[in-house]
Amino acid sequence: MSIKVENITKVYGQQKALNNISFEISRPEIVGFLGPNGAGKSTMMKILTTYIQPTEGQAQVNGHDILTQTQKVQQSVGYLPEHNPLYLEQYVREYLAFNASVYKVDKARVEEVITLTGLTPEAHKTIGQLSKGYRQRVGLANALLHDPEVLILDEPTTGLDPNQLIDIRQLIKNLGKDKTVFLSTHIMQEVEAMCDRVIIINKGEIVANKKLQELRDGQ
Ligand code: ADP
Ligand code: ADP
Repeated sequence: MSIKVENITKVYGQQKALNNISFEISRPEIVGFLGPNGAGKSTMMKILTTYIQPTEGQAQVNGHDILTQTQKVQQSVGYLPEHNPLYLEQYVREYLAFNASVYKVDKARVEEVITLTGLTPEAHKTIGQLSKGYRQRVGLANALLHDPEVLILDEPTTGLDPNQLIDIRQLIKNLGKDKTVFLSTHIMQEVEAMCDRVIIINKGEIVANKKLQELRDGQ
């Protein structure tokens, strides 16, 4: 249940999105990755999920190298992208069953993730019929299909209304009891509501890495 990032830099053309980033998460905890839009959060998450490669530096997820052991990394990680491409005409249960077959996961796992994410009353509907909060649950259910030890969630609570927010925060907190959860947000209240630790990023550089308790104590 670990993430280890060592001196990662990512340059897009002339734009340095990440500048020599290092941090480590070595136990089940919920770590918030806090920073304004454009800080580099999605870029870091795409590197850790092997969607893109760093320009320099290295990282391991659950001890697997992101450059040389991509398949092992993908098996260890559940990813909720910021803009999750969902097909609105598709039925929730069929969407999950299709992805289960793609990941070669047992079909029985579909009902497990439906229960785990509180989707049971909505699973017979199409994704288009669901509220934004329930669509996020579908994304989370999808990320959980292969029972990963690490969850990487890009802005999981952005754009939710207050009731949906409470439910999704609670769901993520429950998942964090036995998984490493690394979630991005640009809102400090989200960190306070869910996280054990916060890593603050600004303009591609880490400016703080603290336990929430230390922040509360003003250290
Ligand atoms: P965040 O997730 O914190 O909003 P991003 O990682 O999406 O930040 O972006 C970091 C910086 O890198 C921004 O300036 C963004 O415009 C730039 N960027 C991200 N993706 C690309 C890309 N594919 N090509 C060029 N620039 C990019
Ligand atoms: P995400 O939600 O994955 O961060 P965005 O909405 O920020 O994606 O961007 C959509 C796509 O455009 C992504 O593939 C991202 O890498 C790319 N992108 C983001 N910023 C830039 C940029 N400044 N120039 C070129 N591509 C970018």
